[in-house]
Amino acid sequence: MSKHFKVIIIGSGPAGFTAAIYTSRANLETAVFEGQQPGGQLTITTDVENFPGYPEGVLGPEMMDQFRVQATRFGAKTIYETINKVDFSERPLRMWSEKEEYSADAVIISTGATARLLGTESETKYWGAGISACATCDGFFFRGEKNVLVIGGGDSAMEEAIYLTNFAENVTLINRSEKFRSSKIMLERAQKHPKIDIIANHTIEEFLGTEEKGIKKLTGVRLKNSSTGETREVEAGGAFLAIGHIPNTKIFKGIIDLDKENYIITKGKSTNTNIEGVFACGDVMDHTYRQAVTAAGTGCSAAIDAERWLSENS
Ligand code: NDP
Repeated sequence: MSKHFKVIIIGSGPAGFTAAIYTSRANLETAVFEGQQPGGQLTITTDVENFPGYPEGVLGPEMMDQFRVQATRFGAKTIYETINKVDFSERPLRMWSEKEEYSADAVIISTGATARLLGTESETKYWGAGISACATCDGFFFRGEKNVLVIGGGDSAMEEAIYLTNFAENVTLINRSEKFRSSKIMLERAQKHPKIDIIANHTIEEFLGTEEKGIKKLTGVRLKNSSTGETREVEAGGAFLAIGHIPNTKIFKGIIDLDKENYIITKGKSTNTNIEGVFACGDVMDHTYRQAVTAAGTGCSAAIDAERWLSENS
């Protein structure tokens, strides 16, 4: 027998918890599946300065704890399991975690996105031996390091570079083109920072390192000039990838309509997916704005869409 809820929310970032606040407050029995990263991407960030209502800023993990408390206050259940299979071909909608089978009348997908990697052999080789995709998680390990690298030119790269100056003596930020995708204010903060060097127009040709008695250690990178093809080496004890994200939609492939980058397609201004009673919100369906506040906004929309759909269809 599966455990049944009126609404199941898959994913526990700002989108998922906002949806849960609305559905549980609308008296719909709601379960939120926390997944592999309870609280979502904000739990691996530091200060959130742009979420309205926090004039002094707030720590990402702290904010997500507050989202969770607010959702459970109205009766939403949080389940620390990951949904890894769904069957939306009949009613009720069915889902499976590693432990149990669940069913729901409506489902809200808010599974977010995961850090993108370069996917090279040398990256795999030194992964966890100096290479990481989360400065907040691993920056501390690089205390006193002469130089660490940040790869990318978006806001995440700027944020990570600035954060890493708390630990390393110097941070070198590498962007593959002359054009930076980050906001002007973040770029300027990084450019003006005395501990940050910026190398534009270069890609990582290879991560370099040592291996002694089976222990691997990153020592630097070989960079390639994107225009001339010339290579040069930069020494570094750490490298942080900040090159964007991939939507977490693997389990929905062939079931929910996805765009060419595998983000969920929602209909018009709604959060409706191609399947009746299944809605999507947050970074899993938005590759344009990707902010905590916009994710929370679409979470609210998904809850309202689900509530209306349920009142018309059950
Ligand atoms: P973005 O997609 O904005 O930037 C990704 C960066 O990685 C780009 O510079 C891109 O280069 C580069 N890149 C992508 N693939 C590769 C590759 N294979 N090799 C080398 N470089 C690569 O992602 P972010 O994670 O930075 O930001 C996502 C969203 O979150 C944005 O909307 C951002 O504004 C927001 N954000 C806001 C923050 C804040 O306000 N505090 C903090 C962090 C993020 P190219 O431009 O050439 O494609």
